[in-house]
Amino acid sequence: MLKLSALDLVYPRSCFGCGLTCNQDEGFLCWECLAEVIFVKPPFCSLCGDPISGKIDHAYVCYFCTSLPRFFDKARSSILYDGILRKALQAFKYQAGLWLYHDLVSLIYACTTAQLNVDRIDMVTCVPLHARRRRKRGYNQSYLLAKGLSSKIDKPLKKNLLKRIRSTKSQTDLTARERITNLEAAFKAKKGACVKDQHILLVDDIMTTGVTVNECARTLKEAGASEVSVVTVARGSQRF
Ligand SMILES: [Zn+2]
Ligand SMILES: [Zn+2]
Repeated sequence: MLKLSALDLVYPRSCFGCGLTCNQDEGFLCWECLAEVIFVKPPFCSLCGDPISGKIDHAYVCYFCTSLPRFFDKARSSILYDGILRKALQAFKYQAGLWLYHDLVSLIYACTTAQLNVDRIDMVTCVPLHARRRRKRGYNQSYLLAKGLSSKIDKPLKKNLLKRIRSTKSQTDLTARERITNLEAAFKAKKGACVKDQHILLVDDIMTTGVTVNECARTLKEAGASEVSVVTVARGSQRF
């Protein structure tokens, strides 16, 4: 996608976070700003990967995962949705900040290789946008992340497995219960999607309550997928 060019030598790129010169080979966040990023570290829920405060040294499943049916098998996120990465993800999603692509793909790749068993994954797909919203935005940010990740882990990208059949309200200001109702029957497996007995890695930019990825996982499982793992760049804090 974006490449370091001779122009960078003449006009050094500045860091998206602090504005100082960015000396990385690729990417728009300097080492100092990346050092401020808070990574999702254990202990976390063994199913949804939501971080838990305090010390727990045994397998733990969070309240959300025990009280709601979960259709994905494992979900993990790289960083907390906060600080400079929150701004970067918003720019990537809403302001065509596509130059942040390398930084975000690197984060999701590191999380995937550390937390998921890549050898067992058959294919990579993304959370779809409704066609109308995709046309308006011009791109699907989750598709771009899935594309970057699939080439780094060398697994096929299947962008057309799912279709959003209902345009839904933005999930941002809704509680978990409202999110579930909002997304009911919002997705459909595309006709001819060959997912039978496949382990699918589903990619999105941010996961908060997990309702969106759960609905996608439900649809993929109903279409025959044997396993659905989820990876997102960021993890927002859950709201009831
Ligand atoms: Zn910086
Ligand atoms: Zn959980």
